[in-house]
Amino acid sequence: MTRPIRAVIHTAALASNYAHVKACAPNSKVFAVVKANAYGHGIANMAAALPGADAFATLEMPSALTLRELGVKQAILLLEGVFSAAELQLCAKHDFWLSVHDERGIGWLENTDLSRPVHIFLKLNTGMNRLGFPAEKAPALVERLQHCSNVASITLMAHFATADDPEQGVAAQCARFDAACSGLALPVSLANSAALLAYPETQRQWVRPGIVLYGSSPFSEKSAAELGLQAAMTLSAEVIAVQDLKEGDTVGYGAGFVAARPMRIGIVACGYADGYPRHAPTGTPALVDGARSRLIGRVSMDMLAVDLSELPSSGVGSSVELWGKNLPVDDVAAAAGTIGYELMCAVAARVPVFVE
Ligand code: PLP
Repeated sequence: MTRPIRAVIHTAALASNYAHVKACAPNSKVFAVVKANAYGHGIANMAAALPGADAFATLEMPSALTLRELGVKQAILLLEGVFSAAELQLCAKHDFWLSVHDERGIGWLENTDLSRPVHIFLKLNTGMNRLGFPAEKAPALVERLQHCSNVASITLMAHFATADDPEQGVAAQCARFDAACSGLALPVSLANSAALLAYPETQRQWVRPGIVLYGSSPFSEKSAAELGLQAAMTLSAEVIAVQDLKEGDTVGYGAGFVAARPMRIGIVACGYADGYPRHAPTGTPALVDGARSRLIGRVSMDMLAVDLSELPSSGVGSSVELWGKNLPVDDVAAAAGTIGYELMCAVAARVPVFVE
């Protein structure tokens, strides 16, 4: 028998979330960000769900190649660029667009024989201090790249550090970008999910949403439902055993949970090797047969425990939603001290995936 755990990808939700982004950014083109296996949803599932997407953006060369193999004709942007001259040649061959964020990348553009020129996104650092040239260097770099015969077009690109935080916002990074680049008549891409929703002035020619397409909120103080988003993944498993506890009995590794009174618990076929966060504490929400329950004790590699004390009709075979359509991934992530991104990306390869 197959182990009773599954992730279901909701195609209609992916399409609805994409349509929502288009409605929120009506004057921009949209890169659907599909890095990290489409945030755990499957790159092929995303390509199938969004046949009319303006473009896709990813990080890994293999996933860009997969998109082309799947027949995706739209633009595909490599968000971190390439890591060798050979990869640059692959970009020319498959018409991948690429971000260029350092001198090494420009060197490859200037010194490699390419079968055709490539479209580049010049990545500028406006305060994130991760990848990118100092924004102030943009005019000189643009002039240099305009003289490079391997460059088909240039778009200016930057990334926000605090678009999800209303207290910090994007003003300082926007001001630095605009001061350096407003004289350059080039297309621009700045906004991730949080920025495009909270700061429409950042939308410019291209937006790059990831998390909202998957139905999770980038904001801690606003839920996905409040933003008009639909959950695109449901992770569920079944109760495979039941234990009746006496007062003083403990549960699982470390014996950290001690029953304060007699209890009934269900053992669920999902553990940290499936991607469920090991650090989720007792009390983290779960739905058993649709009813609210809570995690009990420490998550193990292949199993976790939920409280069935108030759910007498639930038992072996009961369905447990770990997160998804009826239990926001963001609620589980908040309980576990992390973000929805991490939970969805972590769903393990051993979890069977179904698409509906
Ligand atoms: N653009 C870049 C450069 C990114 O690194 C990311 C994700 O981290 C995104 C866009 C999408 O961000 P989000 O998922 O918050 O919309």
